Amino acid sequence: MELSKVKDSALAAEVETTTAPAAPATEPAVPPEVAPRYVPDFTPEVERLRPTKLGQGKALYRQVLPGVMQVPADFVFALARKSSLWPMTFGLACCAIEMIGSYMSDHDLDRFGIVPWPSPRQSDVMIVAGTVTKKMAPAVRLLYEQMPSPKWVISMGACATNGGPYTTYDRVLQGVDKVIPVDVYVPGCPPRPEALIDGFIALQKKIMLERGEVGR
Ligand code: SF4
Repeated sequence: MELSKVKDSALAAEVETTTAPAAPATEPAVPPEVAPRYVPDFTPEVERLRPTKLGQGKALYRQVLPGVMQVPADFVFALARKSSLWPMTFGLACCAIEMIGSYMSDHDLDRFGIVPWPSPRQSDVMIVAGTVTKKMAPAVRLLYEQMPSPKWVISMGACATNGGPYTTYDRVLQGVDKVIPVDVYVPGCPPRPEALIDGFIALQKKIMLERGEVGR
């Protein structure tokens, strides 16, 4: 009885080993991915082409181009000229010491864009600082003529304006405006640097006021 059981189990094991292997389990089919249909978005273009609604009581350029400043060209040129004045560095007498002091750090004319320049070729302001003798007058006029236009003249001190204390001196010119045009007169004997700075500010105002006249 025992022997027959062993034979049956051996036979069963042999049958199991000779049967074909089970087929692998098939995975469920995945449908192919379909690309989404392209739908063009015209919203930005439509927004760009939408007519601008104009408000009432507002200039057109302020609505269409906000932040854009409109000024005449001569205003811009005058603004540039008055903000970068280059006075020629030369002095004739004691007033020149005050002029030199104005350029120093205490008063610092550079902060107004005023830069001293040692040549008439690039200068646009002449400060006549000191006594103008008749012997010196032709040289002053020559320097003025060597400056490019537009150019301006500041008469600094009593001597340059009307001869100052030398009104009875035949050899002293009674005012530099006898030989060159003067734009600003700075009174004093000598004028302090603050007075010269005041003269420069007056000249800057004059440049802005007469901006339409330059080049005519
Ligand atoms: S105005 Fe007075 S400080 Fe100036 S140059 Fe004449 S004398 Fe000198």
